[in-house]
Amino acid sequence: MNPFVRHLECSACAKNHSPRQLINLCPCGSPLLVRYDLPAVRAKHPRKVLSNRPHTMWRYRELLPPGNSQARISLGEGGTPLVDADRLASSLGLSRLWIKDEGANPTGSFKARGLSAAVTMAKALGAENLAIPSAGNAGGALAAYAAQAGLQAHVFMPRDVPPANRIECETLGAHIHLVDGLITDCGRLVAREAKANGWFDVATLKEPYRIEGKKTLGLELAEQLRWRLPDVIIYPTGGGTGLVGMWKAFDEMRQLGWIDSKQPKMVSVQAVGCAPVVKAFQQGQSRCEPWSPATTLAAGLRVPRAIGDFLILEILRQSGGTAVAVTDEEMLADARAMGRSEGLFVCPEGGATLAALKKLMRSGFVRPSDEVVLFNTGSGLKYLHLFEA
Ligand SMILES: *Cc1c(COP(=O)(O)O)cnc(C)c1O
Repeated sequence: MNPFVRHLECSACAKNHSPRQLINLCPCGSPLLVRYDLPAVRAKHPRKVLSNRPHTMWRYRELLPPGNSQARISLGEGGTPLVDADRLASSLGLSRLWIKDEGANPTGSFKARGLSAAVTMAKALGAENLAIPSAGNAGGALAAYAAQAGLQAHVFMPRDVPPANRIECETLGAHIHLVDGLITDCGRLVAREAKANGWFDVATLKEPYRIEGKKTLGLELAEQLRWRLPDVIIYPTGGGTGLVGMWKAFDEMRQLGWIDSKQPKMVSVQAVGCAPVVKAFQQGQSRCEPWSPATTLAAGLRVPRAIGDFLILEILRQSGGTAVAVTDEEMLADARAMGRSEGLFVCPEGGATLAALKKLMRSGFVRPSDEVVLFNTGSGLKYLHLFEA
C-alpha cells in the first residue's frame, strides 16, 4: 500500500475503515473514499517530481493506492490528448474549447483508468474472481485488466449491449452473462452471484479504487492546462464516477498547493430518455429517483439510478454547475460534427457534450469568454452500428 494512504472514509457517515482488506460499501450502504496524508505528500513531493515520469495515469503515484510499481496492473492507461478544438470554438463563438479524448485509452474508453486501479488493488488484496455489471465499456476494461492480472472476470451485461463490447469481453477471456434488463438489474445479479460464489464485486463506487483511477482525469487535465482549471467542464454522466473522481482530484490538488482555489462549473449531460440527475437537479432534490423506462442509444448513459447520486448532485451545486438532457439524435449529429471539425471519432456520449454546450450557450449559462472542456469518454469505433449510414 502507498504509505501516504491513511484510511477509507465513508462518503455519507464519515466512518473510517482499513484499506488493508477487500471491502465494498460502508456498512451504512454508501461509497468509500480513499484519504491520503496530503500534508506529508506536500512536504515530500513538490509538483516537479512529475517532470521525468512516463505519461500514464501512474505518474501521479503518490495519489494512487498501490505501494510499488510491480503491483500495478497496467496497459498504459491515461496520458490522453487534450485537443485544442479551435475550429469548433470559432464556429460556436467561444474563446477556448478543449476536448479531452479518452477514446485513446486501452480498450477505447476512460473505464480503463478506474479498472486499472481497481484490479491492481483487488489482486494485491487477494481476490481471484472479479464481477462487474456493465452497459458496455466497463466490462471490456475489466476483461482486459483481469487478463493482464491473471484473474477471472465475470461480466454481467444487458442482452442489448453494443456488439463490440460483448465481442471484446469474449475475446479477452471474460465469462459473460447476458441479462434481460438494465445495468441496475445486472448490478443486483452481480451482488447476489458475488456473494454466492466468493467473487469480488467491482461495480462502480461499490469498491473504493475505480474512483481513484478516474480521479486522474482531473489531475491530468490540470497538468495539461499548466496547473489551472477551465471555467466549465461538461461530462456525460451515467454512474458519475468520473465527475466525483475529478472533483476529488481538484480538492486534493488544492490541498497540495498544486492549483489555486478556482473551481470550474461542473456540468452533467444525460440523455432525454434517461435523465435522473437532470430531473433531481432541477427539482432541488438531494437524491435521484430511479428512471423508468431508461431508453437511449448511449449505453454509458443508460443508468437509471446511480449509487453516488447524492455526491453528483452536491458537486453540481457546489461548483455552480448544472445538468442538461439532450436527445439521441442531437448526440449522434454532434458526434459527427466533432469528427468533421476536429478529426476525432467520438462516442455518442462524447457527442452529447457538444450538444449540451450548444444548449448552454443559447441559454447564456456558458458565455463566449469562457474556457470549456468537453469529455469524450470513449472511441466511436465501439459504436459502428450507430454511425453506419
Ligand atoms: C461509463 C461511461 C460513461 C459514464 O461514466 P460515469 O463516470 O459512470 O458517469 C460515459 N461515457 C462512456 C463512453 C462510458 O463508457
